[in-house]
Amino acid sequence: GAAEARFIANNPLSQAQHDLATSILPGGNTRTLLHTSPFPLSMKRGQDAYVWDVDNHKYLDFVGELSAGLLGHSHPTIQSTILSTLSTIGLSLGATTPHEHAHAAQLCARFHLARVRMTNSGTEANLHALAGARHHTGRRKVVVFSGGYHGAVLSFPDGRAAVNTVDKQDFVVVPRYNDLEVARAVIEGTEDLAAVLVEPMQGAGGCIPGTREFLVGVREAARRRGAVFILDEVMTSRLAPGGLGAEMGLEPDMVTLGKYLGGGLAFGAFGGREEVMRVYDPRVEGGLAHSGTFNNNTLVMCVGAKVLGEVYTPEVCVEFNNRGDRFRERLREAARGSRVSFTGRGSLIGLHFTEDGVEDIACGEDIKAQIKPDLRDLFWFEMLEAGFWTTRRGLLAMILGTPDEELDRFVEAVKGFLEKRRDIMAL
Ligand code: PLP
Repeated sequence: GAAEARFIANNPLSQAQHDLATSILPGGNTRTLLHTSPFPLSMKRGQDAYVWDVDNHKYLDFVGELSAGLLGHSHPTIQSTILSTLSTIGLSLGATTPHEHAHAAQLCARFHLARVRMTNSGTEANLHALAGARHHTGRRKVVVFSGGYHGAVLSFPDGRAAVNTVDKQDFVVVPRYNDLEVARAVIEGTEDLAAVLVEPMQGAGGCIPGTREFLVGVREAARRRGAVFILDEVMTSRLAPGGLGAEMGLEPDMVTLGKYLGGGLAFGAFGGREEVMRVYDPRVEGGLAHSGTFNNNTLVMCVGAKVLGEVYTPEVCVEFNNRGDRFRERLREAARGSRVSFTGRGSLIGLHFTEDGVEDIACGEDIKAQIKPDLRDLFWFEMLEAGFWTTRRGLLAMILGTPDEELDRFVEAVKGFLEKRRDIMAL
């Protein structure tokens, strides 16, 4: 209604940009997720924890490039590494390089991987991990979870496989996350099972943390069936120094990674136990090929090695996520007694508008019927007006170096929103 009308009035250049783009890109878009109605905001630049749209509004960036932008828009180490790599090393060299080894060594040490391979995205990492698990086991089926997101071609909303380019028949979707009994039954009942693929916290599914009991139980069920237990840490590797799986003691067979680990450049990786990753050793007969022109491009390899080695050290990681936990607590406090819930862990926060304002959401299926998209959209429009760039669907991915005063200001903005709408927001 009124909020959307103000949005249209305030953003003429974004609207014009969108209209132009639709004549070239389907829907004016090349990342489906970023389409929002009536038209998406068009950003022209970012600096530190801020972005500016084409109509020249400045926003605190809570989108954080869906978690890949953890380091912010102009981290000095990332900038100088990109520039020095360009001037002293060059771009892709069409060969293996010591730089790729340096990045791989960091990944293996930090995330407890015996072997690792690099890709250009988290999606690719998951596809190759699945291919590896299938080759290793000589089986085909994969168990995944409703609400799980493993990349644009591997998405499982509403208990179904909304996948493209891969064969739907190969995926068996467990209808409820965090429900060990149901998961066990599906895993035990699936013939020809190659792998179980799961996020330790569902990210796109709403920042819903998995319980240790559930995740360990799923691993054990997978092992009993001789299937490979793959932990998708593309989103969650930032939550603890060795990733969320290590923090929770999950001991996966394979792990997939991506997002900020390339310093904000295109990146993904998959790795794990030697006997599984062996299928990717070109010296092994009958193994699997995994090529990709940009898999070891010098920019990402050199930047990536710095990310873990110098910037996102274990100490920084712990402090950053503690800060996130404190921030979420303040948001929860501000929203108590209202229809807003804040979920997540550490620096990743999920925001939900539900009928009964439930705080600990164990499974997206439990709240789906009562989600309030109108309130969610209203919140998004009003946060924009207050200078906060958040995702429409409610993910807040914090950026390192966001000033404390900005977090305070957001808590106040949330309070203000709830106060103003007490009639519809109070429980
Ligand atoms: N897996 C998870 C858990 C993710 O959150 C994402 C992206 O949001 C992916 C995989 C896909 O990564 P990418 O977008 O780099 O392909």
